[in-house]
Amino acid sequence: MKILDGKKTSNDIKNEIAIEVAEILKKGGRPPHLAAILVGEDGASLTYVNSKVKACQRIGFESTLIRLSKDISEDELLEEIDKLNNDPDLDGFIIQLPLPSHFNENKILNAVDPNKDVDGFHPSNVGKMVLNQPTFLPATPMGIMELLKRYQIETSGKHCVVIGRSHIVGSPISILMARNTNPGNATVTLTHSRTKNLKELTLQADIIVVALGKAEFLTGDMVKEGVVVIDVGITRVADQSKKSGFKLYGDVHFDELAEKASYITPVPGGVGPMTIASLLMNTLQSYKTRN
Ligand code: NAP
Repeated sequence: MKILDGKKTSNDIKNEIAIEVAEILKKGGRPPHLAAILVGEDGASLTYVNSKVKACQRIGFESTLIRLSKDISEDELLEEIDKLNNDPDLDGFIIQLPLPSHFNENKILNAVDPNKDVDGFHPSNVGKMVLNQPTFLPATPMGIMELLKRYQIETSGKHCVVIGRSHIVGSPISILMARNTNPGNATVTLTHSRTKNLKELTLQADIIVVALGKAEFLTGDMVKEGVVVIDVGITRVADQSKKSGFKLYGDVHFDELAEKASYITPVPGGVGPMTIASLLMNTLQSYKTRN
């Protein structure tokens, strides 16, 4: 079994981007600029958004974190989005999800200028992804594709089973894996909570992408020898022996799968860091298009 090391790969990508940024600055250009809006006080969201800001600082991007009270109205949030849409020195921005429940998430995401939508969630960018046109790909699926590419995992003609059909992970990765690209060209089965006999499907899979948010859901008896396993899940479980007070679990029973898989992503250190790397790649792409 080999580890698909998302931490190392994302560091490689960050180093590559940092070199490009240094070149831009040497020529007198402004640095690429990414902003993030965080509404409310959710601990996990704050951790994610802080690691995005930290990554920007490390590679020489300018970054702006906009923290808003969970009690602001939808109109106030839309005004904030409008300001960012019209800021000429901003290349891209994200709205950290989930939003508090009184917001209409679709309405908020649709208000983002598609040319600054570096999370790739705007319907116009999703449409372009489906049509295989150049666009910002959603960060987590894009990170998975980049990891498969850099480890030269063969996907063409393989059977890929995706568990979970969310708009941010399961659905887009199923589209990307089925596209006529490399990586891609897989035969994809997209599964969800209504899928019957999931184990029959996972036992046939050459590649499994697991994104349902249930700790250690995929067990050793559900997969065949040599399978490639991409574990997207992140579940925090209270653990007083940890400094943070919790331990992170993936959707995969790592020890059981490690015995059968040819490649596997760890949690943490797999898909998570690749998500951040993709966001940075999208921001750099936006910067280049705008300049
Ligand atoms: P989500 O929106 O909660 O969707 C979960 C999906 O799993 C749904 O489609 C659901 O089916 C399906 N599901 C639930 N129980 C199932 C079962 N028993 N069998 C098959 N499918 C089942 O989740 P998400 O936003 O995609 O996130 C999934 C996990 O990935 C979470 O742990 C999240 O924290 C993590 N995540 C990690 C990253 C990263 O960068 N590493 C990024 C995003 C998310 P229905 O549609 O039928 O309800």
